[in-house]
Amino acid sequence: MRVAIIGAGLSGLACAHELIKNGIHPTIFEKKSHIGKDYLFSTTTLRVLDRTYKTSVKYLNQRYNLNLKSFSPLREIIMIAPQKKTVVRGKLGYIYMRGEAENSLERQLYNGLNTSILFDSYININDIKNDFDYIVAATGDETISKELGVWTTTFNVCTRVAMVLGNFKLDSTKMWVDNDYAKTCYGYLSPHSTKDARILLSIDNISCYELDHYWDKFIHKENIFHKTIEVKDIEFSIGTTSTAKVDNIYLVGNGAGVIDDFLGFGAVNALESGILAAHSIVKGIDYNDLISPIKKHVSKLHEFRKTMSRFDNKDFNRLISFLGLPPIKQLIYNNPLTKAKNFTFAAKIYNKIKEK
Ligand SMILES: Cc1cc2nc3c(=O)[nH]c(=O)nc-3n(C[C@H](O)[C@H](O)[C@H](O)COP(=O)(O)OP(=O)(O)OC[C@H]3O[C@@H](n4cnc5c(N)ncnc54)[C@H](O)[C@@H]3O)c2cc1C
Repeated sequence: MRVAIIGAGLSGLACAHELIKNGIHPTIFEKKSHIGKDYLFSTTTLRVLDRTYKTSVKYLNQRYNLNLKSFSPLREIIMIAPQKKTVVRGKLGYIYMRGEAENSLERQLYNGLNTSILFDSYININDIKNDFDYIVAATGDETISKELGVWTTTFNVCTRVAMVLGNFKLDSTKMWVDNDYAKTCYGYLSPHSTKDARILLSIDNISCYELDHYWDKFIHKENIFHKTIEVKDIEFSIGTTSTAKVDNIYLVGNGAGVIDDFLGFGAVNALESGILAAHSIVKGIDYNDLISPIKKHVSKLHEFRKTMSRFDNKDFNRLISFLGLPPIKQLIYNNPLTKAKNFTFAAKIYNKIKEK
């Protein structure tokens, strides 16, 4: 069976992994000359948003035998709104390295692959459509889904990722919300070592030319004095697809609409969609059926996004205070069975309080 994978990112590599396990050796095309993005960043998974009753590490390991090592467990999140601050502690999730770092998710997957990748190969789907039995579109964006006419954008984001120097705790992250510089998105600091971290600022519905302006506001308002040694600006769209398979083409990862537009988390879903595309190819099971639990979860989080898209700073202050209330902390962070269900419940309580 001839299978092509376009893109050696999370979903493409996870798909390759699973195909090879089942005796199918795909042809993998990657437009860059190497694995991972051109910049270093990290990825957080939050237990409260994990789709199943297991953490991301356990879930991928036990369900798919995918043994991916995190950079650090996440034990503390400091949440800052214009006039409120909340610190939550507990077994909150994991931080994973990304990009070219030796221990990045992409590198771990690549090192476990028993096949070569065709680097420097930018692929247009129409050029290879007839040369393979199946094509897995794993480009991390909506280009192919759009070409196939199955894509709807729900959210446009510009993000600045800055590498900063200072003193950092490996298991602690910081999150800032403020309409003035992040609109209804957020700023986020995650450690990469005790001496360096990445600060991310995501802003919805702006042009990336405006990033300097928002970034200046952010660092001045939050008194961020870390020395910045590298900056990268990224523009991306989050959206949904009406189907994730068109003829012999499988859409996986971001291009399948499995990244949520609430916080922009899509790493675990990307990995899982790649694995499920491989299952569909190997076993002939309907791919849309296989990924429907992921899509349902993402659309649930879209409801939170719709609410948050109307937030002003008063709402953010109220939300951050609410998330710091002891019973709420207990309900959504320190409960071993905490999942999006509890989060939905907490959101309902929040809406009730807000209406009063
Ligand atoms: C700065 C940033 C921070 C993030 N933080 C988090 C987080 O904290 N938690 C979380 O869960 N998610 C996070 N995400 C989202 C997560 O990284 C993505 O959802 C995930 O990487 C999507 O995987 P993918 O396989 O779809 O795409 P990618 O991993 O982006 O891989 C796509 C690959 O395809 C290649 N490619 C593209 N077009 C072509 C072509 N035509 N021909 C050949 N190759 C091509 C690209 O070069 C790339 O290697 C973050 C994303 C960014 C950008």
